[in-house]
Amino acid sequence: MDFVTGLRCRECGRAYPAEALHVCDYCFGPLEVTYDYERIGATVTRERIASGPRTIWRYGDLLPVADANPVDLGAGFTPLVRADRLAAELGLGELWIKDDTANPTGSFKDRVVSVALTKARQLGFKVAACASTGNLANSVAAHAARAGMGSVVLIPSDLETAKITMTTVYGGRVIAVEGNYDDVNRLCAELTSERPSWAFVNVNVRTYYAEGSKTLAFEVAEQLGWQAPDHVVVPIGSGSQLTKVAKGFDELGRVGLLDEAPSVRISGAQAEGCSPVATAFAEGTDAIRPVKPSTIAKSLAIGNPADGWYALDVIRKSGGSCASVTDDEVLEGIRLLARTEGIFAETAGGVTIATLAKLAAQGVVRSDERVVAMVTGHGLKTVEALSGTAGPSATIPPTLDAFDEAFGRFEEYDPTGGPATTAATTTNPSVQVARSN
Ligand SMILES: *Cc1c(COP(=O)(O)O)cnc(C)c1O
Ligand SMILES: [Zn+2]
Repeated sequence: MDFVTGLRCRECGRAYPAEALHVCDYCFGPLEVTYDYERIGATVTRERIASGPRTIWRYGDLLPVADANPVDLGAGFTPLVRADRLAAELGLGELWIKDDTANPTGSFKDRVVSVALTKARQLGFKVAACASTGNLANSVAAHAARAGMGSVVLIPSDLETAKITMTTVYGGRVIAVEGNYDDVNRLCAELTSERPSWAFVNVNVRTYYAEGSKTLAFEVAEQLGWQAPDHVVVPIGSGSQLTKVAKGFDELGRVGLLDEAPSVRISGAQAEGCSPVATAFAEGTDAIRPVKPSTIAKSLAIGNPADGWYALDVIRKSGGSCASVTDDEVLEGIRLLARTEGIFAETAGGVTIATLAKLAAQGVVRSDERVVAMVTGHGLKTVEALSGTAGPSATIPPTLDAFDEAFGRFEEYDPTGGPATTAATTTNPSVQVARSN
């Protein structure tokens, strides 16, 4: 069953049919999928969801392609991890990590692409295309392979090696463009009118693509026992994910899946080298000034974010905040999450954790709140960012003497031989060393 009633312009409210349309003919406003929430409310139950697959498709009633055969690699239903050690370091109380590194191609983009290509295939498209900061390229190429579709992805030529390699292995055509993401996106927009038979995930089927991010909110609520958190921290590239996380919580309230109407503060995270939304938030303005990105957080390096204004609006209305962090803080965020919780995130995850730390220190994210941080991509995708800062503790010849000599040096720092013999986080020596710097 499909509960979609059509598309609607976010600006002027004009209605459109659920086809491959993304902007309003009259005012050029972006289009949004609309649903019959009354009918969904009469159908969807916690039990119906629980009996579904352990993927985003358990929430099919709230996705724009409920009646189609999904293009599915198993995206979603990723772990929600209670992060007590990290919380203790940041002075927070109840903290959870939504670990989207566990998705099939290692990022949250699998959620949006699974939805977009399902709709694209339903509409009869044979080729999937996109402009990407890397993770979208990986996911489009993988899901296109799964769907038996061709794929063409355009990327900035300076992307991380792993992201380029992954995309080509899945059989995607990769076109590296000499320019930044905003240049690539402009080219992609021109191509969309030249190649009407291609489904451009971030252009002509973007309206459907965006809906996939709602599943982050659905899962968090379900994994918390059908309760909404008090505060979520979300990284911002185009701003789409952040706006749809808000829409997701709102929909759960509307269709009666939560006991009470959710009230979730939503805070945004950006890298200082590409922080148009955080800057507008700090200045208290409505205008998002485009920037030229310069940051190691390449997956978030969108200088002119399509949904920037909408993200800002969601943040303000929810009582959240938006902040940015330096590239050094991003690396520190990656290390902090990895050593406290055993989760290795890419640079975008470093942005989220470092911003969480900053907002916690400012008292914006509070210790009496139930907090969820969205960690959206796997660290193996951006190992370059850590090169020169991560290596063996020692390099030795293969003899016991050499080992003892090298290991003896560590024991000066850590006489217990490691955290296994100490129970409490606060007495863990490696944590104390890190705290003092
Ligand atoms: C694309 C991306 C984001 C940002 O999503 P937007 O919807 O563009 O704001 C965040 N994290 C990762 C890992 C991404 O690849
Ligand atoms: Zn309009």
